[in-house]
Amino acid sequence: MVQLTFHGAAETVTGSRYLLETDSARVLVDCGLFQGLKELRERNWNRPGFDPTTVDAVVLTHAHIDHIGYLPRLVKLGFRGPVWSTPATADLADILLRDSARTQESDAEYANKKGFSKHRPALPLYEDRDVEQTLRLFKTCDRGQWFNPAGDVFCRYTEAGHLLGSSSIETEIRQGPNPLRILFSGDVGRYKAPLYHDPAPPPPCDYLICESTYGDREHPPVAILDQLCDVVLASIRRGGVMVVASFAVGRAQQLIYLLRVLIQQGRIPELPVFIDSPMASSATKIFCEYSDEHDLSEAQLTGPDCILDARNVKLTPSAQESKRINSVTGPAVIIASSGMMTGGRILHHLKRRLPDPRNTVVLGGYMAQGTRGRDLKDAARFIRIHGEDVPVRAHVAEISAISGHAGRSELLRWLQPLPAPTKTFITHGEMTGATALAETLHRDRGWDVVIPKQGQTFVLEKRS
Ligand SMILES: [Zn+2]
Repeated sequence: MVQLTFHGAAETVTGSRYLLETDSARVLVDCGLFQGLKELRERNWNRPGFDPTTVDAVVLTHAHIDHIGYLPRLVKLGFRGPVWSTPATADLADILLRDSARTQESDAEYANKKGFSKHRPALPLYEDRDVEQTLRLFKTCDRGQWFNPAGDVFCRYTEAGHLLGSSSIETEIRQGPNPLRILFSGDVGRYKAPLYHDPAPPPPCDYLICESTYGDREHPPVAILDQLCDVVLASIRRGGVMVVASFAVGRAQQLIYLLRVLIQQGRIPELPVFIDSPMASSATKIFCEYSDEHDLSEAQLTGPDCILDARNVKLTPSAQESKRINSVTGPAVIIASSGMMTGGRILHHLKRRLPDPRNTVVLGGYMAQGTRGRDLKDAARFIRIHGEDVPVRAHVAEISAISGHAGRSELLRWLQPLPAPTKTFITHGEMTGATALAETLHRDRGWDVVIPKQGQTFVLEKRS
């Protein structure tokens, strides 16, 4: 018998964890952290709904924290099997998980020092040593090749176009001559996004697990460059600093690239760009290393003309250098993570810059419910940072085109070539997004579609 249980990203965007059980294997697909609403974050502290010591292997779609951030906790709870990913995902996981542990440790420390946490003492979910142990479990496989995480479960990665290394997972349960095929979409990227490859067409499957982040929303039809140009020029006119909350690897490099293009086209003046991240330099290095994962040429990445290392780009890995950015006056761009403003150095910049109406805060990617990013998007007048209510007087601009997620019609375009699966599970979306996508697939294509609930189990069978 084959069973699939949804232990996360069910009726919500974060916490992707899908447990696939066969007669001979238990494989967890993605192992993400819940983020956003307090009731979701608290789930990270609960037992995961299955015994981690009985899981044979984890297979990852990509390195975002809502897909890998629970791994060190799983290891802390006794998981010892291999963690499969593409090589780029493994390298990104290395810096992201360390960063995640550091963020949790310093948030807990800060909360204890200032006494604003309700938990006494505030504890990190995991520490650096748990991450070290986790990283030793990684095994990698390139896209296009089958690998065997455990028992009768075989997997193959295909390009998802969402982030360096990001992939969908084609899975076969090989119990007989006719294997049961399951496709995990992972996060699907955009078509014709600057720097990134298009998502590859999905292979046919019996069961599909599909994300729905933007299931009910389109990205604006404006070109990213034009949108960014308008926001930068408006920010310069106001005489303030532009703060961008962004994932430090991939999205940050894409922004630097786009700003460079605008400077070269003479549409915006030269201005300093700070990538404020302890992982800034390793991120750039990884980006250069995986040149087949993006469209920048060797010439654009090496030598004095390196786009990511141009004169105006300043990497600030140390806390000391980071603090110095506080005295920077505009025009300037500060890029810091986390993307949804749930933690990390962005919080210090927001605290400093939000109260001044001359500044601009840019929202790039998807902002989940309960995150500070979502509050800003919803025009909150105050946001809470480190136990303080910070007034929002800065201008808040949205450049959703820079999101790594396919908009609604791009998701439908990705699904277009797929013959009807036996059943489709819509996950990784808030209810509005998941429902909109489910209804469209049911109405227009006659598909059997389900939005699974947290903890719900389904038996998967080969239709003969
Ligand atoms: Zn993602």
